[in-house]
Amino acid sequence: MKMKSALCGLTMILSAFGCSAQVKKTPKPNILVILCDDLGYADVGFNNSPDIITPELDKLAKAGTIMTSAYVAHPFCGPSRAALMTGRYPHQIGAPYNLSDNGRVTDLGVPVNEIYMSNMLQGAGYYTSIVGKWHLGDNPQFRPNKRGFDEFFGFLGGGHRYFPNQYQPIYEKQKSAGMYPINDYLKPLMHNNEEVSETEYVTDALSREAVRIVTESKKKNKPFFMYLSYNAPHVPLEAKEEDLKVFANIKDKDRRTYAAMVYAVDRGVGEIVKRLKENGQYENTLIVFFSDNGGNFDHGANNFPLKGTKGDTFEGGFRVPMFFHWPNKIAAGVHFDHPVSALDLYPTFAHLANTNPPKGKVLNGKNIWNDLASNTSPHKDEMIYSLRYREGYCDVAARKEDWKIVRMGNEPWQLFNITKDLGEHKDLSGQFPDRLKEMVAETKEWTKTHIAPLWVYSQKDAEYWESGRLPGYDDTFEVDKLRMGPLEYKEMMEKRK
Ligand code: CA
Repeated sequence: MKMKSALCGLTMILSAFGCSAQVKKTPKPNILVILCDDLGYADVGFNNSPDIITPELDKLAKAGTIMTSAYVAHPFCGPSRAALMTGRYPHQIGAPYNLSDNGRVTDLGVPVNEIYMSNMLQGAGYYTSIVGKWHLGDNPQFRPNKRGFDEFFGFLGGGHRYFPNQYQPIYEKQKSAGMYPINDYLKPLMHNNEEVSETEYVTDALSREAVRIVTESKKKNKPFFMYLSYNAPHVPLEAKEEDLKVFANIKDKDRRTYAAMVYAVDRGVGEIVKRLKENGQYENTLIVFFSDNGGNFDHGANNFPLKGTKGDTFEGGFRVPMFFHWPNKIAAGVHFDHPVSALDLYPTFAHLANTNPPKGKVLNGKNIWNDLASNTSPHKDEMIYSLRYREGYCDVAARKEDWKIVRMGNEPWQLFNITKDLGEHKDLSGQFPDRLKEMVAETKEWTKTHIAPLWVYSQKDAEYWESGRLPGYDDTFEVDKLRMGPLEYKEMMEKRK
């Protein structure tokens, strides 16, 4: 970050007639979280995309502070979103796997005793809404209206088709044939608990509803908290003709479609900003923009210069584009290079809403507001983690200031100076073996806070957990050996008996 305060104006007014300081109560800001789904690090203009233009997002980013080292708590959708809502690593709440999209009714979801940021802000007097993708449980007790959101418009599953005139006929046909389950991607959008008949391209529908709710919040004379959770540019890659035309120069069809989908989000953000300005809400609205995980390079995304893709614990999996925008409160034209985490949003929003996190609430992030002002690292000497369970093993990464350790697949542990070597090309573990060991040991210690998952993907995963092959931390955190093969593992388990 260039040396300039990211926080411009606190409103402390010293009394002219005495020594006592009088703190002028700042009105609670509106808080607008705009989340994209699987958006790559380099897929926005403000992060130097070579081929995607995002003029509306860029205007906000450049009038705000761009976080260059922003991490999410997990390299794919559901767990990342569970972490955002709860302020906790998904491994601590039993939610490190995605919930299924197959449409089957289950009794699974993020436990109801976890108090979401929406609950907190609702309690602090906010009008709370979610527009878009939920993915945190579709049984009634897990739905947005039961989890601190006054209003919900969108869909409960992990993704959705984009053109109603294409998905609705398929849905109707399957429904009338008595098919069960019907995939979440085909189901009608919902307004609170009612299915609605939608005609617009889904990204446009979500933007339209966001604009509507912004205005309705103003009429309620309350600050708003909106979680605008676009499913774009997550697959299926489906874009409008008018947006595709903007990117006619992109040869690759997937990339062209993906670019057009991002552009549709950008158009929508432009409409929302326009309405905020018309309503006189713009000056008092904090906008936080980011992606729930890294881009998927099999589906048109670009994470350059980061290594890896969605799902990885290389940077490309969980380091995401992010900015904060708030006129006269967040500095303009600034890059903040210290690591921050999506887990920091819960406590930071509590601070801005003049409230406290619920009593006894465990939070893994911290209020970063003062660090933005002073350009200091909110996580000095602290680790930021990413851990993903694969079939029978796990991938892990941890970052502390300039340093990052990572273990992916059957590769040994690696150590990078991630500030100098953003692309994770030069493994320094041979040069700094003690640093590597210390960081691995600290990460292993962190895993003691984990609990068993409340759901997994498959029977195979269930067997891995049953047998002890997952989480398999003893194996994972063994620095000097490669991971065990199936035979070695079998031997180890025999010896344990
Ligand atoms: Ca995602």
